[in-house]
Amino acid sequence: MNIKRLIKSFLLWELFAGLSLTGRYFFKKKITTQYPEEEIPVSPRFRGMLALRRYPNGEERCIACKLCEAVCPALAITIEAEPREDGSRRTTKYDIDVFKCINCGFCEEACPVDAIVLTSEMHYHQENRGENIMTKEKLLAVGDRYESKIAADRQEDSDYR
Ligand code: SF4
Ligand code: SF4
Repeated sequence: MNIKRLIKSFLLWELFAGLSLTGRYFFKKKITTQYPEEEIPVSPRFRGMLALRRYPNGEERCIACKLCEAVCPALAITIEAEPREDGSRRTTKYDIDVFKCINCGFCEEACPVDAIVLTSEMHYHQENRGENIMTKEKLLAVGDRYESKIAADRQEDSDYR
């Protein structure tokens, strides 16, 4: 075994093996993507920007069950709720601290009404102090803006849900 290794080492075997691999890829078609000028494919399961969804009639989906708040491992979600005049239960406060959020998707998994979701949108940032808190209004606005994409992603992934 040691003699075999010695001969290989003497003949610079590893060096030529490495060079042959480099040579093979040198003439192959390059797959570098010029991001961000070029769009890259994004999975429908991508866990990007958080959003709250509404039903088609405009009613918010969230029923303030607080399962997402309980399951969140980063303690990023803060919910306050009270019954409406019609007896339905809705949140009065729904905040997510995106600095704490680790985009694990547990909230999305736990939600019984598909209200809190992680969209496939990855291009977002905060510029000012305090913008890391996504309030209910902001989350609903994101949901409204991306609803067609969210619905399409869910439809594409429906066989696995
Ligand atoms: S994605 Fe994970 S960390 Fe972020 S709010 Fe949901 S449960 Fe919490
Ligand atoms: S987002 Fe879903 S899991 Fe969270 S409180 Fe609302 S209904 Fe419950």
